[in-house]
Amino acid sequence: MPEKSYYLGVDIGTTSTKAVLFDRGGKVKGSEAVFYPLYTPNQLVAEQDPEEIFHAVLNSVKEVIRKSGIPAQALKLVAFSAAMHSLMAVGKDGKLLTQSITWADTRSAKQAKKIKEEKDGHAIYLRTGTPIHAMSPLSKLVWLQEKEPAVFEQTEKFIGIKEYIFHKFFGEYIIDHSLASATGLFNLRNLDWDKGALEVAGVEAGHLSRLVPATHQMAGVKSEYAAFMGIREDVPFVIGASDGVLANLGAGAIEPGVIAVTIGTSGAIRTVSPRPKTDPKGRTFCYALTENQWIVGGPVNNGGIVLRWLRDEFASSEVETAKRLEVDPYDVLTQIASTVNAGSDGLLFHPFLTGERAPLWDANARGSFFGLSIHHQKQHMIRAVLEGIVFNLYTVLLAVEELTGEPLRIQATGGFARSDMWCQLMADVFDKPVTVPESFESPCLGAVVLGMYALGEIKDFSIVSDMIGETRTHHPDAAASKTYRELLPIYIRLSRLLKEEYESIAEFQRKHME
Ligand code: ADP
Repeated sequence: MPEKSYYLGVDIGTTSTKAVLFDRGGKVKGSEAVFYPLYTPNQLVAEQDPEEIFHAVLNSVKEVIRKSGIPAQALKLVAFSAAMHSLMAVGKDGKLLTQSITWADTRSAKQAKKIKEEKDGHAIYLRTGTPIHAMSPLSKLVWLQEKEPAVFEQTEKFIGIKEYIFHKFFGEYIIDHSLASATGLFNLRNLDWDKGALEVAGVEAGHLSRLVPATHQMAGVKSEYAAFMGIREDVPFVIGASDGVLANLGAGAIEPGVIAVTIGTSGAIRTVSPRPKTDPKGRTFCYALTENQWIVGGPVNNGGIVLRWLRDEFASSEVETAKRLEVDPYDVLTQIASTVNAGSDGLLFHPFLTGERAPLWDANARGSFFGLSIHHQKQHMIRAVLEGIVFNLYTVLLAVEELTGEPLRIQATGGFARSDMWCQLMADVFDKPVTVPESFESPCLGAVVLGMYALGEIKDFSIVSDMIGETRTHHPDAAASKTYRELLPIYIRLSRLLKEEYESIAEFQRKHME
């Protein structure tokens, strides 16, 4: 019998690095996550230690290989996914001059505003596909130059986390087109660093890594690391792409007309376009997967974090009940919400507890219940929260639709997809079928499929639908959808009306809470 082949996907995320070993059919042979901290000494800072992350990569690979017991020859490739928007400065001999400043760091909010208002930021967005925002490395570079000019001067290279890891493995700074397309510095149409954006950032192309396609492969990982991880030195390493676009690929949402909706701590809507597409109104992002597959979508801050807030602040008795029944408290909350009519009897909730990115792009936005009456009970409020999170994602879809057309179906991923009730609610609000793959390993599976493509083992990505295996589908309920169609316009009008008041209340909070 011929020896089986195995493929390793490594996803370098914000909370952990996860290594997942798949066989050729997409079956998970083993998986290992190594966690690390996000350092948040105050509300603005969100940094990570690149060395901690490098060790997590080494250890997650080592453990998954060791536990699987596969022969060294059977491992065909290692392919990488990584979180977008991280930035760090390195000096001579690879010496770190800063920590890794993550997507969640908001210190460059003022610089982002200035780029938008004074540096023709909208034109930069249209060329680069990354919204001008504190998350973007472009804004972070402007901030670093202003706040840490000495560090900025000494910097040889400005890089992200995957570049750091690849430099450790191979001694070269390279960046895939996909992560480059999330820096705010990369021109989507000529696949090169964007001169105008670099000028605003105050850097030259030589300060950045060498650009390579997401299918780029390297072999000859440094022997000490190969030995530590228990792999051969000549195993091909495929650089891969960002976690956002690979989540689409790994969820099987890569045909036109399929929209991937993720609700984890935050959330996102993403779909595929054969060409780069940016929004004249600046509401969406456009990131590269391959030259012919671009992911258009919008990120939201207020996903599962809002339900977590509800659980922790208002649901202690439900948490107690869950403990007694030995079930997940979230299951108790969604069960309670299911006792109320679709539309929560006219109670609306805007979920903007942490400001909002898409579609408002307004850090001052705040949450509110609207329409409360004496008849409303706690279960209405719980349901309104679940609905509000989905309404917000639906408004992002409306922006994405303007660029890529009406979707045919929705593919759901992230923690919320564990809940049948929440997925059904989404099918009703979106008025489209919602499919849930059983596998939750989307970015790692996406990386592996991209890796197989890079090595010429497959001709296109169609294999992914077989690899994700079982799925379940929720079909929209006509009556519930009709109710939501009545409520959505009120929800949308209301958040527009509140724009100025968001600013006033956020200003009040800053003044009184800092
Ligand atoms: P992360 O983005 O941090 O990786 P996950 O994808 O695991 O997080 O999603 C966590 C979120 O998913 C939680 O905050 C919660 O809102 C939601 N969630 C998790 N389990 C359930 C469940 N059984 N029912 C409803 N929501 C859930």
